[in-house]
Amino acid sequence: MKIAIDGPAGAGKSTVARRVARELGILYIDTGAMYRALTWKALQLKINLSAPEELHQLAADTVIDIRDHGDGTRIYCDGREVTTEIRSPEVSRMVSVLAADDKVREVMVEKQRAIASRNDVVMDGRDITHCVLPDAEYKFYLTASLDVRTRRRGQELENQGYEVDLEQLKREIMERDQLDMSRKVGPLKITPDAVVIDTSDIDCESAVQYVLDIVREG
Ligand code: C5P
Repeated sequence: MKIAIDGPAGAGKSTVARRVARELGILYIDTGAMYRALTWKALQLKINLSAPEELHQLAADTVIDIRDHGDGTRIYCDGREVTTEIRSPEVSRMVSVLAADDKVREVMVEKQRAIASRNDVVMDGRDITHCVLPDAEYKFYLTASLDVRTRRRGQELENQGYEVDLEQLKREIMERDQLDMSRKVGPLKITPDAVVIDTSDIDCESAVQYVLDIVREG
């Protein structure tokens, strides 16, 4: 079974996708975490994100691993756990620049399809419904108002100990949405066969139940 979920930052995708996967007893793959892990490494190595050749080499040379330990997903970059590091504001600010590169996307999409070919998955991201898993049995597009998404991301960052300026965060989310929607390869978009769920006025648990009802009805 393949369940594809796309949507902008802070729409609740990862919370919903993780819960749905757990309920169904299948694998959850957070593809955003893969782009974030690569961005984290690029920042560590001070790689110029606007230099395509350096980026391509980086994507080809990096081993990204997603493991489900029961208590949540952990992300490894070349064997080192980076689960927390990849959520930093610095990574969030740069990830969409790296993700706009077509060769980087090619490498990532290949990795993601390979995982999906071996497992039943719930996969979330920006291009899952139309590029990575266009044949997924179930497709969803999760969205929410910009204010709600900003508040959710702000809360997540505060929980991690960061000081948050909500106005600045809102601007950064808008910029990231813009980059993600306007890139040539794998842009964020709603496909006609995806069920759109707006989580502005419902909690993630209701969204989880809605997705599960659709999947269980088959
Ligand atoms: O989902 P998350 O907000 O962690 O994703 C971080 C970034 O990774 C997105 O803003 C986007 O630039 C990139 N991404 C992507 N394609 C995906 C998943 C994430 O381009 N399938």
